[in-house]
Amino acid sequence: MKETIYETFSPEETRALGKKLGETAQPGEIYTLNGDLGVGKTVFTQGIAEGLGITEAVSSPTFTIVQVYEDGRMPFYHFDVYRIGDIEEMDEIGYEDYFYGDGLCMIEWAGLIEEILPEKRHDVTIEKELERGFDYRRITIRER
Ligand code: ADP
Ligand code: MG
Repeated sequence: MKETIYETFSPEETRALGKKLGETAQPGEIYTLNGDLGVGKTVFTQGIAEGLGITEAVSSPTFTIVQVYEDGRMPFYHFDVYRIGDIEEMDEIGYEDYFYGDGLCMIEWAGLIEEILPEKRHDVTIEKELERGFDYRRITIRER
């Protein structure tokens, strides 16, 4: 398992890191995104979308499990499974077409659907460390 740690000191830097990943992402890749409320998951996701060439505004998919963006160089499937009650809801939306399709998947709260997560994926964790300043973020990416 390979682990890379990045440190950012502003939202712009976090967005730029996401953008770099979006620019080099390959179809079919899966990213999970973990971290507390307000840590920068949406900022990071907006960077990924920008890197994919998506011009549509990207926010958190609060009322739907998955938000689909089609106007980039590959489809972008942004999941937020926080409100999922039962894993069967994932079957109902046909998650396999997304997970094993030709787009980039980004899954927030992925721990709640651990049992159906593909083995091969990138786990992204964003953390604050207040001793390092209010805008400091440590972003760990584990390749599994
Ligand atoms: P989440 O989606 O994880 O709830 P958001 O991305 O919506 O969080 O919000 C992150 C907030 O933290 C924004 O207000 C952003 O400006 C601020 N922020 C401060 N420093 C950073 C940083 N280094 N990286 C990302 N966001 C930061
Ligand atoms: Mg968010």
